[in-house]
Amino acid sequence: MAWLTEQIKDVKIRQERELWAVCAACKRHVDRSVWQADLKVCPGCNAHERLSCRERIDLLADAGSFEELNASVGVRDPLAFADDSGSYADKAKATAAKTGLGEAVVTGLARMDGRPVVLGIMDFRFMGGSLGSGTGERILLAAEAALERRLPLILVSASGGARMHEGIVSLMQMARTCAAIARLQEAGLPYLSVLTDPTTGGVSASYAMVGDLNIAEPKSLIGFAGRRVIEQTIKQKLPDDFQTAEYLLEHGFLDGIVPRRALKAWLVNALSYYRPVQPQLKVAPAAPAAGGAVAGPPWETVQLARQAGRPTIRDTIANCCDDFVELHGDRLFGDDHGLIGGFATIGGLRVMLIGHQKGKTVEENIAVNFGMANPEGYRKALRLMRLAERYGLPVVSLVDTPGAYPGLDAEARGQAEAIARNLTVMATLRTPFVVIVTGEGGSGGALGIAVGDRVLMLQNAVYSVISPEGCASILWRDGKKAPEAAAALKITAGELLKLGIIDGIVPEPAGGAHLDPKAATAAIKLAILGALTPLLEIPVETLVEQRYAKFSGMGR
Ligand SMILES: [Zn+2]
Repeated sequence: MAWLTEQIKDVKIRQERELWAVCAACKRHVDRSVWQADLKVCPGCNAHERLSCRERIDLLADAGSFEELNASVGVRDPLAFADDSGSYADKAKATAAKTGLGEAVVTGLARMDGRPVVLGIMDFRFMGGSLGSGTGERILLAAEAALERRLPLILVSASGGARMHEGIVSLMQMARTCAAIARLQEAGLPYLSVLTDPTTGGVSASYAMVGDLNIAEPKSLIGFAGRRVIEQTIKQKLPDDFQTAEYLLEHGFLDGIVPRRALKAWLVNALSYYRPVQPQLKVAPAAPAAGGAVAGPPWETVQLARQAGRPTIRDTIANCCDDFVELHGDRLFGDDHGLIGGFATIGGLRVMLIGHQKGKTVEENIAVNFGMANPEGYRKALRLMRLAERYGLPVVSLVDTPGAYPGLDAEARGQAEAIARNLTVMATLRTPFVVIVTGEGGSGGALGIAVGDRVLMLQNAVYSVISPEGCASILWRDGKKAPEAAAALKITAGELLKLGIIDGIVPEPAGGAHLDPKAATAAIKLAILGALTPLLEIPVETLVEQRYAKFSGMGR
């Protein structure tokens, strides 16, 4: 009878499997139809179950649009490798038969909301998504196809790393795939990298990490060395969130974490910022000059410029942008919350928006370090400015900071270098650049994102080499002389216009921007469009020449 009981048990398990999916992360049972409808995302813990490459193609490519390239490129066996369990060749054959795949990645031409792209999707089921020479060949050819056809490349990674069975030849796939990506990027074409669970080892240390934009699915495991190896090496227990997508975002290596359901729309929208056709706007020319928009006494203006209720960049985004895609991280150390940026659409114009973010409450201000950016903020801004140049997007920079953060860690990470680098890059950046000082223009921390073709100031903003308090305590040896210092330094919009430091003044609502932030952000929007529209008509060589003439002449 035992065999019968066993058989009944088997049938029951099979039936259960057909009815229920089990989340690998939290073990929750989910009705299989719900599981499929939710794209294998657990409703309990939001874990994103691994997908096969065919499922991903269905998710990302327009129906019927995928046309596979280089399907005949299969597994190679450069070392004629075998171990105790048999030959690599046999193993590869068995894997191919089981998965119906020729390699760990499938590449091809596809359309996404009608836009042609080259798409490459890895499949973890094929030998752990490992990077063999066949995998490398397919990715290399996909990048070359994108270059030849002038198309964007999107790669979706899922991999445990290099393929041991191919030894050093596998290691070299990291170099050759990156070589092909480098050519694509040098030609100015977009490359978007999607990292899914897991993306580790040689794939994370090659093409997966060098996207113009790197995005990941929530909770994906992403990292270089394995957790166990690290723990054994450093003899320490690692934090729970170590090597998760969320951990990488905070450490500056991802632009964003995008849930599976939103992935296609996110990618399509991001590509719409690549060399966009800008609308022909009919806007009044840049903000008015001094007339009718003169600030009050300097010290009073300083108080107004520091008002907590003044509109921040996030207010401007909320009130004036039709679309904003925040892009995170400096790809080196972290993601600065005090200096933010991303793709934005303002009055129909597509731009790269960057700017300091101050908080309105103490808690908010702690989270954004009172709008005092660290080096990673300036380096994120630098990355976004360079991306804007490559993608043919104008840059809009909103300045509002007491200054760059004067801290021990900021010095150790090169605050001065970060600001200096930005000054040199902005000087020759081949795209229109508009700056508006909306509140405090604090010294190098402000200038670090403010070398623009047009520099405007809100009526009650200030822009200065040092705070009036700092100046008073150095030169007057008495911090209480700040009002005198504020007057002597000439830091108000009217005075800076006269000095030729700025190009125009944006009027504020009566009594100051903090009394009517909505009206103030509307004025900012008009000023951006008014300044930017004529710049779009100027050939970029002329623009860069004029920018040089403008800044090289200051103080002459
Ligand atoms: Zn779960």
